Amino acid sequence: MGRIFAWFKGLLLVELLQGMWLTFKYLWRPKYTLMYPMEKTPQSPRFRGLHALRRYPNGEERCIACKLCEAVCPALAITIDSEQRADGTRRTTRYDIDLFKCIFCGFCEESCPVDSIVETHVLEYHMEKRGENILTKPQLLALGDRLEAGIAERRAADAPYR
Ligand code: SF4
Ligand code: SF4
Repeated sequence: MGRIFAWFKGLLLVELLQGMWLTFKYLWRPKYTLMYPMEKTPQSPRFRGLHALRRYPNGEERCIACKLCEAVCPALAITIDSEQRADGTRRTTRYDIDLFKCIFCGFCEESCPVDSIVETHVLEYHMEKRGENILTKPQLLALGDRLEAGIAERRAADAPYR
């Protein structure tokens, strides 16, 4: 019985008509398609894009080289070397993030006790040469300097939910 029903269904093109009905139903509704990159979807303050290292307002880098982010990174994408400065504080001498390994999980940001490593809203970037997948400490600090206003704004917007 089931086979006969399926045969008639195929003969009468029921599934095709159902598909066309669905198309017709959406013909006059608002479109969801955006003209990217001229138009963009809204972004959550928690969006996890390109990384950056932040500084305090006095210009001192926040990172204290505790290496929690390196330890927690599930993709082993972070490499840190550190040394003690003359004033007894510890700072990184090397802070690399391999963007090819990173899975943008946000664990590094969550683990950082001083809000140093963050993931920004930047999602449009590319590499042209071998090795450009490694974000170095100067690059990360430069990104932090350039995007600090936006980073602070997004963290403030998300603060009530943390
Ligand atoms: S976002 Fe996740 S995978 Fe990427 S560097 Fe941070 S902890 Fe590692
Ligand atoms: S970025 Fe944060 S978690 Fe990573 S080493 Fe620096 S202080 Fe520690």
